[in-house]
Amino acid sequence: MISLFPEMFDALSKYGVSGRAFDNGLIELRFYNPRNYADDPHQCVDSRPYGGGPGMVMMAEPLSRALADAKGWMGSTDHRVVYMSPQGKVLKQKHLKSFSSCEGFILVAGRYEGVDERFIEREVDEEWSIGDYVVSGGELPAMVVLDALIRNIPGALGHAQSAEEGSFSQGLLGHPQYTRPDSVAGEMVPTVLLSGNHEQIRLWRLKCSLKRTRDRRPELLDAMVLNLEQTKLLDAMDEDFELKVLLNREK
Ligand code: SAM
Repeated sequence: MISLFPEMFDALSKYGVSGRAFDNGLIELRFYNPRNYADDPHQCVDSRPYGGGPGMVMMAEPLSRALADAKGWMGSTDHRVVYMSPQGKVLKQKHLKSFSSCEGFILVAGRYEGVDERFIEREVDEEWSIGDYVVSGGELPAMVVLDALIRNIPGALGHAQSAEEGSFSQGLLGHPQYTRPDSVAGEMVPTVLLSGNHEQIRLWRLKCSLKRTRDRRPELLDAMVLNLEQTKLLDAMDEDFELKVLLNREK
């Protein structure tokens, strides 16, 4: 990881699912701070943009030197150099799965107005974005991506099925979840979930996922090739079907 603020990554390495993955050695992260590779005594890593304009730009040379050391640590491991950038490919769950064949990444977190384009042209294999908005630095986007990648490492989640069943894993949004108590402010949990009938529960959850996806993210359905069961369930779903009816709640 190439970052001016390695301390920020405590949020990833010390808590929850990702923290456990670090503790269990499922992932290893090393930091290379461009400041340690600056060539002036003030450890300056940024300068004004040529041509004018607001803000500062990260200089190519400290970044390249930090990257060379990071590559040295990776050795012969299959790796990609990725610059976190709002101008990059917006990451989707399906991309994360395809990354599992690559053993390692060197992520570069920009700051200020970004990094000198010559560094990107010369050194970067891919640019990844977490969405069409701009945040102040690449550390948070890198943590978002690392967390999402970690969830796909076998053994990272307590329950292996979770990664397979969550939103986007099958191309659909996830189904609603309920837990104890069975009545909250007089509102009952959908009765099917108390039935113990696994097949009915599976079908109910699939219906909910299909309906949610159709209502909230119809473009996801358009991009999917639905199987026969999904097509039938969707066709049978009346447009005016009330969500409460779908949820099979007792009134
Ligand atoms: N001036 C740049 C532009 O318009 O594309 C934005 C620079 S941004 C303030 C500083 C750094 O935050 C970027 O170099 C990048 O590493 C990171 N960043 C900001 N938004 C991001 C996003 N949506 N996805 C990934 N990284 C992002």
